[in-house]
Amino acid sequence: MTQASTTPAQPEKLTRSGFLRRWLGGLSLALVAGLAGATSWKSKRKTQVWQLDPHKCVHCGNCEHACVLKPSAVKAVHAYVLCGYCKLCGGYHHPQAKNLDTAAESQLCPTGAIKRTFIEDPFYEYTIIEEKCIGCGVCVKGCSQFGNGSLFLQVRHDRCVNCNDCAIARVCPVQAFRLVPADEPYLLKGV
Ligand code: SF4
Ligand code: SF4
Ligand code: SF4
Repeated sequence: MTQASTTPAQPEKLTRSGFLRRWLGGLSLALVAGLAGATSWKSKRKTQVWQLDPHKCVHCGNCEHACVLKPSAVKAVHAYVLCGYCKLCGGYHHPQAKNLDTAAESQLCPTGAIKRTFIEDPFYEYTIIEEKCIGCGVCVKGCSQFGNGSLFLQVRHDRCVNCNDCAIARVCPVQAFRLVPADEPYLLKGV
């Protein structure tokens, strides 16, 4: 039975738990949906595409420089479900940062490609600005060494031209690249 009411619904207070409920699911799904949608036209052309395994990657820096595209088809992505929403973020803050703020000198990313948003003391959300990301992996290394490892690299299939012989795969020191089915083109963490 539906109850009639003239009172508008009260907005949900943005507590951390509420935030996590709303955004972990939403953003994780958005990430997956976005990545999946971005590859649909290529799926029709090829049955396999190149992808890197984030569990093998040692963030050596080759993904930025070896790709035939400039900037690279490899970008950082964020598994929100693994993130600690830390005030001191190993992927965002420079180890020598004097302050835990958003000043350029406090940031690790060379292109300012990570947005930091205050949620609720002491929690912050970190979002990759994809257009600015060059796939250098510096944030991934920082998050792996001093955080939860929620930042990782992926070949973005809305950019990758799917070379027959991937130039990054040839130089990857840990053989993290492999061909994967075109209809499952991402190797995600935390899903
Ligand atoms: S070349 Fe391999 S190890 Fe280096 S950043 Fe790319 S996937 Fe990671
Ligand atoms: S540090 Fe490198 S990989 Fe990470 S967001 Fe910035 S440009 Fe992208
Ligand atoms: S297949 Fe080509 S475009 Fe795609 S990541 Fe490898 S080198 Fe870059």
